[in-house]
Amino acid sequence: MEPCLIVRFSETTLKGKNRPLFEQRMVDNIRAHLKPHGRYTLSRDMARVTISRSAGNPAGDPAADPESHGEGGTGNGAGGGLKLALDVLRQLPGVANVSLSHPVSSEPGALSQAVLDYLEGLLARAAPADGERIPFRMEVTRKNKNYPLNSMEVASRLGRKALERFPVLKVNLEHPQLVVQVEILGEQALLSEEKVPGPGGLAVGTSGRGLCLISGGIDSPVAAHMMMTRGMRIIYLNFHSFPFIGERSKEKVHDLVRLLARNQPHSRLYVAPFAPVQVAIRDKCPEGLRTLLYRRTMNRVANRIAEREKAGAIITGESLGQVASQTLPNIAVIAETAEVPVLQPLIGLAKTEIIHRAQAIGTYPISIQPYPDCCTLFQPRKPLTRARSVDLQRAEARLDLEALVAECLDGLEMTDYGPEYYPAGWKA
Ligand code: ATP
Ligand code: MG
Repeated sequence: MEPCLIVRFSETTLKGKNRPLFEQRMVDNIRAHLKPHGRYTLSRDMARVTISRSAGNPAGDPAADPESHGEGGTGNGAGGGLKLALDVLRQLPGVANVSLSHPVSSEPGALSQAVLDYLEGLLARAAPADGERIPFRMEVTRKNKNYPLNSMEVASRLGRKALERFPVLKVNLEHPQLVVQVEILGEQALLSEEKVPGPGGLAVGTSGRGLCLISGGIDSPVAAHMMMTRGMRIIYLNFHSFPFIGERSKEKVHDLVRLLARNQPHSRLYVAPFAPVQVAIRDKCPEGLRTLLYRRTMNRVANRIAEREKAGAIITGESLGQVASQTLPNIAVIAETAEVPVLQPLIGLAKTEIIHRAQAIGTYPISIQPYPDCCTLFQPRKPLTRARSVDLQRAEARLDLEALVAECLDGLEMTDYGPEYYPAGWKA
């Protein structure tokens, strides 16, 4: 039988009406993300989906050919276009894990034979050093409670047969190099090597929309990713200070959004020209308040875009105490100008933890490219750590805020990224 992918959903503890909604959204997202990569057949069973390649998939179609994609995959040559699909699906919020599985008969004799054949294939690639034995473990689960043997019995029976047939193996339950997972369903059993973990959480589209202020730094892309794994669809807004800051800073933000486009079916990026705002603030307001005034004005622009996009929250990458603008009083005066809740998912995380997450989601190498953000423009020598709302309001009274916000909105650039930009073993 042809191999298939098994995608298991997380958050299966969801109750009531939420659960079918979540599961349906998960399936819709899976379809949307697979669409650009080939033709696949999906069948759904509660909190899991089985995916196989459709018969109509042209052999040798490069879009469906996993061999050209280096990253990820289970390394089992039999996967066909499924290895690419696995790489795509492991990025989707709501996915607990994905495995490349081989359906076989669950009849005990046939199952033993299938497991031995499967192991033979795996061992052909394992290439142990001379005289060295390969630690392995057999994992058996059983959905079919009428099966004549229980999981433990199946595991020990299959383990014994494997050791007899392949003396190169030795059992090691704690640190196996090779794992064979056997899932007994009904008449069928599934053999797989590993469960590749997904991000977990909720399916994008089940928790409304958020507008993420994305800067090109390390933090805000991580904040966006965290909210996507809580089911929020993210729209992005960046402020760019052309001509003071080069085009490359803007391209960097596009690169980040293109990468994050693998986590939700549709990603929209707005880029707003921010130089006129910054020049006005530099010329008319006290120096120590500059950064806060920038951030308050960003919120005012964000309010209008949130309205247009029906976003119920603004998402930012602040972490308490990280820099002068991120003290509690300053966070409070920045948030004052937002008309929707400002969510700051990184607020309690240490920088090392944020970096760790950025590395895990793949944004880190892009974020550390040395192209400046607009906030570095006309940076105050001594930023205030405790700005007062009245002082900010007094400074703002010297600006024509309405006109400045309107100018930002007039100059907006909008770009849409779909999941076809997904870079498995990405070669841009
Ligand atoms: P990041 O790593 O996201 O750049 P940061 O540690 O540099 O964050 P700040 O410069 O204080 O922190 O910015 C705080 C937050 O304000 C950012 O996480 C982001 O959400 C938003 N922000 C800052 N600059 C911009 C910008 N140019 N465009 C859009 N949002 C911005
Ligand atoms: Mg920054």
